[in-house]
Parts: sequence; structure tokens; C-alpha cells
Amino acid sequence: MERSKRKGKLLIFSAPSGSGKTTLVHYLMRQFPQLAFSVSATSRAPRPGEKDGKDYFFLTVEEFKKKIKEGAFVEWEEVYDNQFYGSLKSEVERLQKDGKTVVFDVDVKGGLNIKKIFGDEALAVFVKPPSIGILEQRLRNRSTEDETSIRKRIDRATYELKFENQFDVVIINDELEKAEQESVKLVKAFLG
Ligand code: ADP
Repeated sequence: MERSKRKGKLLIFSAPSGSGKTTLVHYLMRQFPQLAFSVSATSRAPRPGEKDGKDYFFLTVEEFKKKIKEGAFVEWEEVYDNQFYGSLKSEVERLQKDGKTVVFDVDVKGGLNIKKIFGDEALAVFVKPPSIGILEQRLRNRSTEDETSIRKRIDRATYELKFENQFDVVIINDELEKAEQESVKLVKAFLG
């Protein structure tokens, strides 16, 4: 994005799938009215209960690739084979125009890309599971993934955990209530 178009603060929550970043972000959205959720685009199928335009903009692989060509994304990533995720420039600009602090719930590499673009205006938070074993348990309990998808996510998590040190802050999501309180403290300090 062009520098002139940037304004306002941005909060980035990234984590290996199943760590609990969406749970934490939903909690923060209820606590802070000045936060606005940047709806990501994805080519993965909606899970039961997920709404287009609210949880994600659900696109086909072809639609996603077309938008890449058009330069519509702040950042995008093929996180799994043929499963694309990205943040749309139009979405970020719309929320910033409203004077909100934009919140991203994005994969680990996407989060680092956004941090690179926005620098000190952004706080990049890595949500870490207590262990890979617990991450696997949570993915199973969530009941949204089949066995192949769980394996893909666990493999990817091992890779993504290597990027922890590149984030501004790490929150270990062991006991949910504690992680929620820690997130609230962080956001309060960041918003000032
Ligand atoms: P992500 O957005 O990182 O993929 P979710 O927020 O969907 O992860 O969380 C994965 C699953 O783990 C969900 O079923 C969620 O309810 C559960 N969960 C999240 N945080 C905790 C926690 N601290 N303890 C136990 N279960 C959790």
C-alpha cells in the first residue's frame, strides 16, 4: 500500500491453525469498540456457521488468482496447496477511513508481511499453543477438519512456530481466560 494511504494503528494476530487466534480476536472485538476486524479472503470452503463477508470473503481459486493479478491484496499466501489466504487493500482502506484500529487474524507469514509494510504502526502478536500435542487436540475438538487437513495443519504448525521470534509479542494460549486477559492488557497499552 502507498505510504500516503496509511494511517491509524493496526493489530496483527497470527498463529498456527488451531492455536486460538480467532477465539482471542473475537474476544477483543467485544471488549474494544475502536477495533475493526479486517475480513480476509480465502479460497478454502466455509465451515458450518461461517458467513461470507463476515468471517471471510470466500472466493474460488480462480477468483483469488484474478485478484492477485489485479494487485488487490495487501498480502496473500498459499498457505496450503490451492488454499489461498489474503488481506484485501479495499478492506483495510475502508476500515482506516472510519478511523478504526484494524485487526488482522492471519496466517504467520501473512502477519509478518503486514508487519513489514506498516512497521511501528502495527503490533504483531504471535499466539502460541502450549504444545503441538495440545494444538492437535484443539483441532480435533473443533471438528472442522478431516484427518488430511489436520495433518496438513500440524505439519505447517511445526514450520510456522519457527517464526515466533520475528513477532513483537508472543502470547501462550494455555488457559484461555489468562490469554484473554493478557491480550486485553496488550491492546490497552498499544492503543494508549
Ligand atoms: P485458530 O483461529 O488459531 O485456528 P481457534 O480460535 O479456532 O484457532 O481455536 C481452535 C480451537 O481451540 C477452537 O475450538 C477453540 O474453541 C479452542 N480453544 C481456543 N483457545 C483455547 C484454550 N485456551 N484452551 C482450550 N481450547 C481452546
